[in-house]
Amino acid sequence: MLNTMSKHTLPDLALFGGTPLFAEKRFVGRPNLAPTDEILADMRQILDQRWLSNDGPYLKGFEAMLCQSLGVKHSIAVSNGTIGLELLIRALNLTGEVIVPSFTFIATVHALQWLGLTPVFCDILPETHTLDPQSVAALITPRTSAILGVHLWGLPCEITALEALAEQHGLKLIFDAAHALLCEYRGRKLGNFGHAEVFSFHATKFVNSLEGGAITTNDDALAERLRLMRNFGFVDYDQVEALGINAKMNEVCAAVGQSSLRHSANFIAHNRSNYRLYHKQLAQIPGLKLLPLPESSNFQYLVLALEQTEFGLSRDRLVQLLHAENLIARRYFYPGCHRAQPYAQLYPAAGAHLPVTEALAEKVLLLPTGTAVSAEMIEEIGELLGFVQSHAAAISAAI
Ligand SMILES: *Cc1c(COP(=O)(O)O)cnc(C)c1O
Repeated sequence: MLNTMSKHTLPDLALFGGTPLFAEKRFVGRPNLAPTDEILADMRQILDQRWLSNDGPYLKGFEAMLCQSLGVKHSIAVSNGTIGLELLIRALNLTGEVIVPSFTFIATVHALQWLGLTPVFCDILPETHTLDPQSVAALITPRTSAILGVHLWGLPCEITALEALAEQHGLKLIFDAAHALLCEYRGRKLGNFGHAEVFSFHATKFVNSLEGGAITTNDDALAERLRLMRNFGFVDYDQVEALGINAKMNEVCAAVGQSSLRHSANFIAHNRSNYRLYHKQLAQIPGLKLLPLPESSNFQYLVLALEQTEFGLSRDRLVQLLHAENLIARRYFYPGCHRAQPYAQLYPAAGAHLPVTEALAEKVLLLPTGTAVSAEMIEEIGELLGFVQSHAAAISAAI
């Protein structure tokens, strides 16, 4: 039901007792799904084949599809993106300090800390929310072993500049590409850069395998090491060649991943159309800026920056008001990893050299997009935001 123009006066807002705009909660991350029948057919096939894990046919097929889609030589599918990062960090024998953004999902930093490395928080560029190469350069010490960049929201890092720094200082360069499947840097798919890159196929990601991840690389020896480590170091039925862990992706996840990847062009088309609609809806609203994304993006994240003086309300007040309307806008990645534990306690002064991170953490919010979000919803959200902005002063006074 189209519920346009449902807010005329302040008491119509759910925060003040009105009926919520949406009858059910609308989340930022609802999964993109392939048709149910396709998935069920694969489930039947998996039961028939009686092969549930350990390099099964669906796993092999999924890895081949990933290599094909990204134009990369090797893809090693794993049980989740976090363990993919950890395998890669170990396979590269990283030591000491690793330079990493604070403005990322906590797993990027946890992977380092979990393995006893020291994350060195680095500031980001305000335009792309990715590592600022100048800040990276300033943080390199004799203890630095690597740079871990994050292609946040699918926006590529400044790869050429980071490559030059890594080369100059003899550092490893790796990327957390959890958001960036099928996104590009200078015409080439992400997944091909640095020593290796790590994707996530968690339920909320652009392509999902329920839970899952993959490491991609063009380095043959590294790929072989990663494959060994993923399966306890086994090279044969009873021969173990290296320290390993269980990071295997099972057949069910690989099958769901395949079907999701097969439908990824539809997901992108839907996301892009959502992005354009939001752009149109938000263009007239002072103080709300939609993060520009390149045409080659997967458009999985709808990222806004709220300028409080222009909008008239704080970001946090707006989020509170939207939650009351059952619109579950999110403050990703508030408050920045350096302010989460254990990092806040370990590095209490980290914020001092992260001005862009700290400013963005106060003004970024994400709205729902993806295949679960319709054009009607976006129109309703646009009208709500317009109403709130034009009544910002009265709302402030009433709270
Ligand atoms: C989701 C995500 C991860 C972790 O991936 P999982 O598959 O959930 O372990 C890592 N980094 C970023 C930036 C993410 O968004």
